[in-house]
Amino acid sequence: MKQIAVIGAGTMGNGIAHVFAQHGFTVHLIDVSQAALDKALQTISKNLDRQLSKGGITETVKQSTLQNITTFTDLAAGVPAAELVVEAATENVALKLKIFQDLDAHAHPDAILATNTSSISITRIAAATKRPGQVIGMHFMNPVPVMKLVEIINGYATTKKVTDTIVELSKQLEKVPCVVNDYPGFIANRILMPMINEAIYSLYEGVAEVEAIDTVMKLGMAHPMGPLQLADFIGLDVCLSILNVLHDGFGNPKYAPCPLLVNMVTAGYLGIKSGEGFYKYTAGSKELVVSERFKG
Ligand code: NAD
Repeated sequence: MKQIAVIGAGTMGNGIAHVFAQHGFTVHLIDVSQAALDKALQTISKNLDRQLSKGGITETVKQSTLQNITTFTDLAAGVPAAELVVEAATENVALKLKIFQDLDAHAHPDAILATNTSSISITRIAAATKRPGQVIGMHFMNPVPVMKLVEIINGYATTKKVTDTIVELSKQLEKVPCVVNDYPGFIANRILMPMINEAIYSLYEGVAEVEAIDTVMKLGMAHPMGPLQLADFIGLDVCLSILNVLHDGFGNPKYAPCPLLVNMVTAGYLGIKSGEGFYKYTAGSKELVVSERFKG
């Protein structure tokens, strides 16, 4: 495989394009927004500079990575040459179903169609196409150039040949693939989100304060980040929406999102992206400061 298309040039799409291009693949990066494409190229260049300064890559690799990426605002123009399409557009069911119908119409009949969705059923996305056997989840972690894991999710109809191809491809990217089946939250979020929810419940019930909860998990379990800090990093709106997927998908009250999380999202306290969640974020400062709302 040499030719890849990536749909969506946001946080994940630019990282996915970066990693494929760095490993010698020709990448067509496609987004409806020209501004998103321009920003993605800037981000990739900045991240390559960081790798270069740490001695991880050479100047030649930096230049070839950038040369391997071409941007498009039109899916129909960017997709036909691709042997694999990795979709990393906004997390919205209706949008993804439409994109996969368009991909089915414009991609080569043999092309594999992968999605980076965090929570939407692969089987449901695959059913929007006439090639459900060639649809698979390829769930990269943020930040893509740094994180080793690729969670590979088999839809109900995904063929073994397609799974094996994506496993091998992930290894070529120097990632570690883990194959799982398509049930709500897959593995990563099925285990992570209830832990985050339980941390929020512990705060809500007054069992402990923000710093204590995060410190217990950091020092006690050797987690690099406490669950409340991690929730701020992921985005509290994203955490809430994934918990709702687990709650609806399993119909089990154990996944019900904590009312405190619901209130915070409703009020617009979304974590790093809005400047405040469990912690307060000031531009340019790396200091971790607990939000005033959770002090005393
Ligand atoms: P993002 O909001 O940063 O970027 C989404 C991009 O998709 C935007 O640039 C938008 O313009 C573009 N887009 C919207 N509609 C489009 C269309 N029809 N065609 C092409 N591009 C379109 O989102 P993100 O955080 O990069 O998330 C992308 C996907 O990756 C989601 O499915 C999300 O669940 C998943 N994911 C995100 C993370 C994370 O930490 N951010 C981690 C793992 C998986």
